[in-house]
Amino acid sequence: MKTPSYLWNPPPVYSLAVRGLTARYPVHRIFCVGRNYHAHAVEMGAPVDKSKAQPFYFTKSASSLVESGATVPYPTGTSNYHYEMELVVAIGAPAFRVKAAEAASLIYGYAAGLDMTRRDLQLVAREQGRPWDLGKDFELSAVCSEIVPAGSLGVLDHGAIKLAVNGKERQSADLSQLIWSIPELLADLSKFYHLLPGDLIYTGTPEGVGAVKSGDLISGNIDRVGEVSLAIGQPE
Ligand code: MN
Repeated sequence: MKTPSYLWNPPPVYSLAVRGLTARYPVHRIFCVGRNYHAHAVEMGAPVDKSKAQPFYFTKSASSLVESGATVPYPTGTSNYHYEMELVVAIGAPAFRVKAAEAASLIYGYAAGLDMTRRDLQLVAREQGRPWDLGKDFELSAVCSEIVPAGSLGVLDHGAIKLAVNGKERQSADLSQLIWSIPELLADLSKFYHLLPGDLIYTGTPEGVGAVKSGDLISGNIDRVGEVSLAIGQPE
């Protein structure tokens, strides 16, 4: 087959380290779940009644990925830059119209992630019925730890999830408080997409979201999964 030539170098393959392996996990798409912990939905002024509601999603570009431990500039266009600590599910097999019971066979592993958010821009978009892209899908906004292969973890349904800023605890909850569980999310999202290996799902944040500023250090932890950190640098 003839090797194609390009006008300039094509984009890199975005990828994450995998614990215990030298091979990296190549990232395809990044899906994020909105309002998946009751107390966070309430703090955002939008409580969820699971008997009537469906999960909803937004996406981030793979190019927004940044590995844990990085220092990122305070982003442009915002004065209310928020952390959201989240469990990330890394898909390892094709999934289309799957049943919740099939979840275990579809999960490659897990990671600890930060859904960094320009909250002021997100809320303007929300109020005006506009897309959330400016608030959510911006450069260096999808922070992610190494991937931990699911192995004996199976389908995670409990475990502490915590976040601190400069060592002071800001978020503390348990994965058992997810409104839509991982199997339910896989069943639902796969109604709308042909999920593929390399797709990441940020499963939503618990209560306690808040703003950070230049000089702050964010550190998060999920039991049995690991840690994620991000340092906030000066604005560009
Ligand atoms: Mn989020």
